[in-house]
Amino acid sequence: MTEILIPLKQHVGAPCRGIVESGQHISRGELIAVPNGLGANVHASFSGTIVEVDDQNVVMTIDQEQDFSTYVKIPETESDIQAVEVAGVVGAGGAGFPTFLKLACEITEGTFIANGAECEALLAHNVKQMKEHLAQLVRGVKYCMTMTQAPKGVIAIKGKHRQLVLQMEKAVANEPNISVYQLPDIYPAGDERMIVREVLDIVLEPGQLPSEVGAVVDNVETIKRIVEAIEDRKPFIDKDVTVSGRVKQKETVFVDVPIGTFAKTLINNVGGYVEPHGEIVLGGPMTGRSGTEMSPITKTCGGVLVAMPFPQESRKIGLLICECGGSAERMTEIANNMGAEVVAAERCKRMVEVNGRYRCALPGICPGQAQTVMALKKQGAEVVMTGSCSD
Ligand code: SF4
Repeated sequence: MTEILIPLKQHVGAPCRGIVESGQHISRGELIAVPNGLGANVHASFSGTIVEVDDQNVVMTIDQEQDFSTYVKIPETESDIQAVEVAGVVGAGGAGFPTFLKLACEITEGTFIANGAECEALLAHNVKQMKEHLAQLVRGVKYCMTMTQAPKGVIAIKGKHRQLVLQMEKAVANEPNISVYQLPDIYPAGDERMIVREVLDIVLEPGQLPSEVGAVVDNVETIKRIVEAIEDRKPFIDKDVTVSGRVKQKETVFVDVPIGTFAKTLINNVGGYVEPHGEIVLGGPMTGRSGTEMSPITKTCGGVLVAMPFPQESRKIGLLICECGGSAERMTEIANNMGAEVVAAERCKRMVEVNGRYRCALPGICPGQAQTVMALKKQGAEVVMTGSCSD
């Protein structure tokens, strides 16, 4: 019997509180955990029997026969925004912020932006979704415009996807209030503050929310889950995932993977590893985290990427930290896996502290890093590891 874990924290906020008990049989789509403060409902993505509920996970043995075409629908709600809340929709692009809270604003002179940048290398599931479900995305943008009272909607896609841009322009040809915006092919084009600057020509202060300047930004997969909640009464139980790197079939997109599926199951489904292989990264190459074969797919995990083995490095490493790239902790972990010693760390000079967190003042408009590199050298660094974007 296969045992899986469904994490209770798949969002920004505190872990949810399990509302099921060991021995209980549950169906796919049933509510199993509710927020404990800031958070979002969690539903079962498989049918099966609960083994245990602890502070972090619901553990269940899944039934041998699974029917992924059905699920327990969310109850009727008085409004679309309540449906989004009850369905447990959170930012599927990786941020995990509860979506109903983001949509609960009135931007009566503002713009709703569908974020289709998919700017992390190797990931391809957002582009596949947009190509294959144009009409669903347009309907989703209209729902979001209504919920936020935004008079304008923009679908932002990288201009390099020429064919997709043309298809999307055709799809919105009869929608006078929705347009398509072509983003540059740079990292981090999908950063909320960068996308607001590109689309609306408004520079947000570090820490300032898009809604403060009349914008709400949601990833295109989040919009797909919003449409499913409203039209199909479907809870957020499946996730689109790209599998790539050192696997037999690269850049394979799996659509609607049940949450809780092991990373290894997806790797097996693309023919297994190309040897030698290294760590499994969950998410994108820039902001992903280290995982294992048994890591479960979550609402925010869009990638299972298999890296090559870590090269070994005996020289002393200095870290150059960028808000949108690997964090200091992640780069230290990588350096340690390379067998190297980290002797210094410096932040990009555009990073400023806001409420105890360092934010980038101008994402994507990156300065030269000569000064920072000199500072690292002075502290004994012989080589530099950078998590920054375009320097
Ligand atoms: S300006 Fe610096 S912190 Fe901001 S995105 Fe560029 S490298 Fe990263």
